[in-house]
Formats: sequence, structure tokens, C-alpha cells
Amino acid sequence: MMHQFFYPNQLLAWFAKVQTKQSLAHRTYLLVSVSSEWLVSIARQIAAIFCCPHLNPLPCGECSVCQKIQLHAHPDITVLEPTEAKIISMEQIRDMIADTQNRPWESEYKIFIIRDVETLKREGLNALLKTLEEPPSHCIFFLTTQNADAILPTILSRSQVFRLVPDTQDAVHQLMQDFQVSPEEAQCVFQWSNQNIEAAKDALQNTWKYRKMMLQACTNQDPIQTSEQFCKLSSEQKFTTATTLDLLSYMASFWHDVLLCQYTEGNVDWIVNRDFLPQIQALAQKCSTHKVQELVEFFLACPNFMVFNVYAKLFWDNLFLQTYLVTSSN
Ligand SMILES: [Zn+2]
Repeated sequence: MMHQFFYPNQLLAWFAKVQTKQSLAHRTYLLVSVSSEWLVSIARQIAAIFCCPHLNPLPCGECSVCQKIQLHAHPDITVLEPTEAKIISMEQIRDMIADTQNRPWESEYKIFIIRDVETLKREGLNALLKTLEEPPSHCIFFLTTQNADAILPTILSRSQVFRLVPDTQDAVHQLMQDFQVSPEEAQCVFQWSNQNIEAAKDALQNTWKYRKMMLQACTNQDPIQTSEQFCKLSSEQKFTTATTLDLLSYMASFWHDVLLCQYTEGNVDWIVNRDFLPQIQALAQKCSTHKVQELVEFFLACPNFMVFNVYAKLFWDNLFLQTYLVTSSN
């Protein structure tokens, strides 16, 4: 089976072409990506292509049809989502299948979006399969999943599969909106997470607030005092290993930027921690390259000490002292 990677805009353009030419080869499309909510929003945008009467080449976004879609109120677009029990129930599938027999109200097609299709249980899956085998000609199905490996081959063989990756700009924009962070921070966390939007969101939700404190502490504070502050924080907030690993990774990324800044003689194109650019440039000027390199290696090796469950005070003392030694030397 061939998998293709698409940016959302490419996929929308592809569907617009197919719709204009009336050359719909499949009725079932499986959209795969790491963010389930995001996939549903993409599926809605594709659905608009089949509904908006003013394609040019994409939906106009302004007509009454487009507006209904944006408000999730279009009668021919149905979204099935897992219930609180995190499954799509037999009842949901049964209702959907009954509905496939109805003609569309306003559009040429009825469109069904099934979010996290892997959450269907066997009985529901069998019922869905029967419908996908011989879909009514006025129906189109979009299935979404975060894990294509969890999808049965019988579903895969009836679907055209699209693997989606967020466009960097889209992702950055989404992070800015959802978390009220600056463009520099959104860009930074997205790069830090290897362009995995879910990992970026997770970081913003959990550990990002400590990052700023940590990086500020790198430049101007008494290491023992900073260590005490983090020691207290880690016990009050009950830092997990995952939290501490994130913090170490922020430090490694920051000092790696300092190193890059030294090697590239101030070229900032590759700098990840853009929101700390002035500090990075100042440290690049001030610190010895050799010591910065050692510090990056130290942060990358830190997770190894953590498995020995060292005394927290010792851990934080060591971390901030190492940093202090580099920033205070010439
Ligand atoms: Zn429209």
C-alpha cells in the first residue's frame, strides 16, 4: 500500500481538483496524523469542497454553506467522535448507517467523518465495513486515526490513505492561538519538539512555564539560590521524571544554540530559542567554546544520572553550578 505525505494545503488542492473533474475514485479516505482534533478540522475543510457552490478553486469561506460548515451546523456533514468511554459505540455506527440511506439535504453528497476510527469495537467495525464495501453513491467517508498500524487491513484496503503533516506556519499559528504565546516561542517549541504538534502542546501545557525561569537563571543568578528555588519547586510541583527530562532538554537546546552562535559567527538562522536571542548572543561572545561544548554534553548526559535517583538538592546544585562555572569564566 502506498502512503503519501501531504501538507493540508496540498490535500485540499487535490480534493478540489478531484471534485471539479468529478473524478472521485474512492468513497473512503483515511487521514493519518498525530493530532486527532486537527485531522477532524482538516476533514471538515475537505467536506466544504464538496458542499460550497462557489469553489475557486477552494471553498469561498463566506457563503451560507461555508458558514454552516464553520459553525458545525451543515445538515449533510456528520462527525462521529468517541464517547467519554473513548470508544465509538455500536449505537453511533448504527445511527450513521441508517442515515447513509437518506438523500443529502442541500449538497450533492452526505459526508461522514469518523474520528479515531481505531476506537471502534469489533461489532461496530464489521457493520462499518459492510457499508464501506458498498457505499450509497451519495456518501463520502473520512476516517481519521493517529495510528495507522491500529487499523485493520480490511479498512485500509477500502480506503485511500493520506498521511498528513502540519505545515510549519499552520502549526505555529495554532500554538500561538491555543496557548497565547509569542511567535518566537511557538516557533521554538515546535522545533524543540521535532515538529510534533502534540508534543509541542504537551510541553506548553506542562513544562514550558519552568523553561523561562531556568534559562533566565543561566545568565544572571546565584547558582546556589537558583538550585534551592528549583529544589523547592520540584518537590512542591511533584516534578516527574518526564518533567525533569524536558527541563534538561530545554537547557541542552539553549546551550546548543550558544554553541551554534559561536560556530556560525553570529548567524542566527539555526537558533531555536529565538525568544532568548540577546542572551544567547551575549553568552556566545563571553563564554569559551570548549566549556560550552562540555556543558551541552553534560546536559545530554544528565538523564543517565537520574536513573540513580540522586538526592534532588545534589542534582539541581550540580546542574546550576556547572552552568555558573561556564558563564562566569572568561
Ligand atoms: Zn462557500
